[in-house]
Amino acid sequence: MTVYSNPGTEGSLITFDSRYDHYIGGEWVPPAKGRYFENVTPVTGQAFCEIARGTAEDIESALDAAHAAAPAWGRTTPAERAATLLRIADRMEENLEKLAVAESWDNGKAVRETLGADLPLAVDHLRYYAGAIRAQEGRLSQIDEDTVAYHFHEPLGVVGQIIPWNFPLLMAVWKLAPALAAGNAVVLKPAEQTPASIMVLMQLVGDLLPPGVLNVVNGFGAEAGKPLASNKRIRKIAFTGETTTGRLIMQYASENLIPITLELGGKSPNIFFEDVMARDDAYWDKAQEGFTMFALNQGEVCTCPSRALVQESIAGDFLDAVVERTKRIVQGNPLDTETMMGAQASNDQLEKIMSYLDIGRQEGAEVLTGGGRLELDGDLAGGFYVEPTIFRGDNSMRVFQEEIFGPVVSVATFADYDDAMCIANDTLYGLGAGVWSRDGNVAYRAGRQIQAGRVWVNNYHSYPAHAAFGGYKSSGVGRETHLMMLDHYQQTKNLLVSYSEDAQ
Ligand code: NAD
Repeated sequence: MTVYSNPGTEGSLITFDSRYDHYIGGEWVPPAKGRYFENVTPVTGQAFCEIARGTAEDIESALDAAHAAAPAWGRTTPAERAATLLRIADRMEENLEKLAVAESWDNGKAVRETLGADLPLAVDHLRYYAGAIRAQEGRLSQIDEDTVAYHFHEPLGVVGQIIPWNFPLLMAVWKLAPALAAGNAVVLKPAEQTPASIMVLMQLVGDLLPPGVLNVVNGFGAEAGKPLASNKRIRKIAFTGETTTGRLIMQYASENLIPITLELGGKSPNIFFEDVMARDDAYWDKAQEGFTMFALNQGEVCTCPSRALVQESIAGDFLDAVVERTKRIVQGNPLDTETMMGAQASNDQLEKIMSYLDIGRQEGAEVLTGGGRLELDGDLAGGFYVEPTIFRGDNSMRVFQEEIFGPVVSVATFADYDDAMCIANDTLYGLGAGVWSRDGNVAYRAGRQIQAGRVWVNNYHSYPAHAAFGGYKSSGVGRETHLMMLDHYQQTKNLLVSYSEDAQ
């Protein structure tokens, strides 16, 4: 067991700067309007640094730098770009513990997760695209004996990227790795709730890229995000965040006729068929663990399995077991490696979750465990902690239909396979789903029938770089991760060549 010291205190791995400027053209640049905002750690509720409050002027400066850098970066060879991504991955790995503590302090998530998942996944993602871009090949069509169509991949140029606060470093790297591998220059806007760990990352890796290839402008959605997403000087906008914001991003992009990728909200069903309890064995243990995944990352995951559907015939014993299991989730100081659940990312998010706990009760949902704020002592007393909560109700309730984005799961029962599919698909969203059954045929059919971009079968919440991720319905447009992500950052150039000397 390790308890990392709070940043800035004796023995800590990291001391944050008191103030972070924008990172533009390889330099630290103060905001054009000279304004900063306070950044708070959810661990204690205290402000720990100031962040540049970006506006349209800062976005224009970043776009100037990106446009200056894009042509030369776009002409580098895939091998050169791959080498750069590998160097960034190595630098992150060398500083893994420091970045993990920075991320936990900025976001409130347990260091056990940042050390074991967020950072290793980010590093692997960079390495994956370093390999993918080197292995990419163009295509050739033989039109007739003397005529050939060549298909080349070209970068788009300058792209905008806007990310949320739930996995700041991982979401940044999910977007940056394919964009940079494909030869684009980027202007990235982090979420205003969690900007600090990304600025620490830029301090660590900024020198590995030519100036202007990667620019980071901080600030709020309306003040910095909108001027970026609606800008005529970007060739693509990639966004992860709420579905309502995604709709706005699509409107801005339609004005400029640029492509988008949108990773949005979810209300993912996690379905447990009766055979999960057929034997008291390792599989049943794994399935119970799969149920508790609603609390992973404090439930602040777009694919949070926030609706659990349990076959009626096992509901009583199943719920007794998973309630017991949920009560064993260790909560507390995010910097303690024993902690499984840390703090919610912001006070606003805490209040949103608390309001849904009231809504669920008012709707008549039964609270099986949790249901309130977790009060901690000492310097954690001001932090944003919530108990993992299990509601039991029915799929028409708001707590089954609306994204809470907290450690709250709403459980309903189903009679048979068709009933399960009907409830699972009765949602606006279609991002993730889980299917648990020992019967491979049932699991396969359910996996195909559920309208969601990622269905985990007999597992949940794994995010390998080489599996496609994205949403059906109101959960998004396009995919991230996997080889196919390169398509979202490249143009196809077709050169149609006649090698004939005959008249056409
Ligand atoms: P949000 O939409 O409020 O904010 C996301 C980002 O958009 C922030 O950087 C914000 O500053 C910016 N923004 C807000 N308004 C804007 C505007 N008008 N123009 C341009 N930018 C604007 O979302 P959030 O609360 O930060 O994140 C939580 C949401 O993200 C949840 O709905 C969650 O499901 C979703 N999410 C989805 C995925 C996925 O891959 N599908 C992954 C993580 C999170």
